[in-house]
Amino acid sequence: MSSEIKVVEKVQPLKQLGGVVTNGNGNGQGYNGVVGDYAYYASLRNDVYCAAAYGDLGRLRMLVEYLGFSLKERDALGYYALQWAALNNRTDITQYIIEHGGDVNAKDQSGQTALHWSAVRGLIQVAEVLLQGGAWVDAADVNGYRITHVATQYGQTAFLYYVVSKWNADPDVPDNEGRSPLHWAAYKGFMDCIRLLLYLDANRGCQDREGCTPLHWAAIKGNLEACTLLLQGSQEGLAVTDNSGLTPAQLASEKNHRKIAFLLGNTRRLHEYRSNRNSCLGKLPKLGLAPVLCCVIVVHLTTYIHSVIMASNLPKLTAGFGILAWLGVFLSSAGLIWFYRCSSKDPGYIKMNVSDHQNLKDEPLLKIEANHPALLAGNWSQLCTTCKIIKPLRAKHCSTCDRCVEQFDHHCPWVSNCVGKKNKWDFFLFIVLEVMAMVITGVVAMTRILTDPMAPAGFSPMFSHASTHHIGALTFLIMDIFYFFGASALVVSQATQISRNITTNEMANIMRYSYLRGADGQLRNPYDHGCWKNCSDFMINGYNEDVPIAEDSANSEETGMIQIPRDSNLQNSNSHAPTDRNGHIAVHVNSSNINAHHGPVHSLVQPR
Ligand SMILES: [Zn+2]
Ligand SMILES: [Zn+2]
Repeated sequence: MSSEIKVVEKVQPLKQLGGVVTNGNGNGQGYNGVVGDYAYYASLRNDVYCAAAYGDLGRLRMLVEYLGFSLKERDALGYYALQWAALNNRTDITQYIIEHGGDVNAKDQSGQTALHWSAVRGLIQVAEVLLQGGAWVDAADVNGYRITHVATQYGQTAFLYYVVSKWNADPDVPDNEGRSPLHWAAYKGFMDCIRLLLYLDANRGCQDREGCTPLHWAAIKGNLEACTLLLQGSQEGLAVTDNSGLTPAQLASEKNHRKIAFLLGNTRRLHEYRSNRNSCLGKLPKLGLAPVLCCVIVVHLTTYIHSVIMASNLPKLTAGFGILAWLGVFLSSAGLIWFYRCSSKDPGYIKMNVSDHQNLKDEPLLKIEANHPALLAGNWSQLCTTCKIIKPLRAKHCSTCDRCVEQFDHHCPWVSNCVGKKNKWDFFLFIVLEVMAMVITGVVAMTRILTDPMAPAGFSPMFSHASTHHIGALTFLIMDIFYFFGASALVVSQATQISRNITTNEMANIMRYSYLRGADGQLRNPYDHGCWKNCSDFMINGYNEDVPIAEDSANSEETGMIQIPRDSNLQNSNSHAPTDRNGHIAVHVNSSNINAHHGPVHSLVQPR
């Protein structure tokens, strides 16, 4: 597709200045090869930028206050000391530069400010100093990239959250190509950024200059998860065409992403089908199969009473056997009561925040709980983009009910409801009662057929006799065995999960949920309190509380310092530098620049 955003490596080989090489300890020793006065001056001037990058405040003060070097000038590459300090999270240096004449909004040749550079690495502390110092939160570079674009281009969700919630940065602003941060997040496949932006009501229908929506870009990149997330709660974008007349599904197909093309095509057909209000069948998914299942049970039970218990061509039941036979009817009928309860009950829906959200559209601080522990811990998957809530860890948004459900187990079409925290007990009791009823009625039916005094000896003659004289009872028995296998498998799986305090959804997506893994990366269910306690709590309360067991402290030792892997950011610049089709790099930093100019910066830079 011609509109593909190209990632172009931009490497600028640089000459070293006057043989300046620093050992990086900032104490002034270790220089070598200083040639002549100019070279010496150049090396000192260069040292201003080194000191800013390495965080050597003492040396910077000496250079500025005693030797008179200015903080307003660019280095040989065209960047400001403030930018290097911001890139390396030097908050004290940043503060010093701002207080000593550095322009907090100074732009390099690509129009980027120190704040843009802090966004590359998502450095909140230094961004706070810059913003407190008067940095413009909506400063745009030559490509029209704001800090919200840069943060999404580099997947810095926490930074995005911080600038939007605290500094009212616009999460929906377009760049020069008309692409919003959501376009970039969809293109890059940063799921947490997409989730946060959708939560913030970013416009998912926004079209860039080429007519592409974020969904078009996710489809072009073949990111299934991003496509699914972008479609959650709104399927309108499926029909939108870009300037060449192609829908996201057609673009995915063109790019050979067959799975996505299939998903988008199917979702669109289903959406159109459902939105056709005249179609009764269109309402079926909402209605579910509960009435069908109810009819099946009632018909099955009626057949049992008519053809097994009260069959005129079979001998009368003895008192004891009669009680057993009617017990089956009683259990199945009782199961229907719990079926109704499970189907009609609130499965644990979490209150939506949509109406409040609309009212608070211009109050981003109020829209997000600024200090919510889940967000501070970086658990962005807890944001529900539809309900506009921060959902509990074990909750999930059900696309059929369009609500978030606490301790979501699964959406059961047969009961037309979700199975969650508040109706799991009813669901479990319903299937247990029905299985017990099936066992009893099956045994009764089989005994009745086998003990018919008119039946001939031998299996084949008896079978043919039953199929002519007891067709109702035989049909019942066959159906009963068939239902029994399905229902008993469900009971076994539910009972196993209850004993382990894990839901069907968690079992199905066990690899996706980080809370189901320990510090060592091994699978570990923190809610499993042992079979006895799990089962007894479920029996007594009808559910298990979400009380996690603390992990061994030895495994989760805090280092107190975020370690950036070697080369992380600077490699980032090479491999991830977001460029538009003209090859413009969002943040013009790359490892060769920094290595050439400042020595081994990336082995030293570590955020505080
Ligand atoms: Zn939800
Ligand atoms: Zn549901």
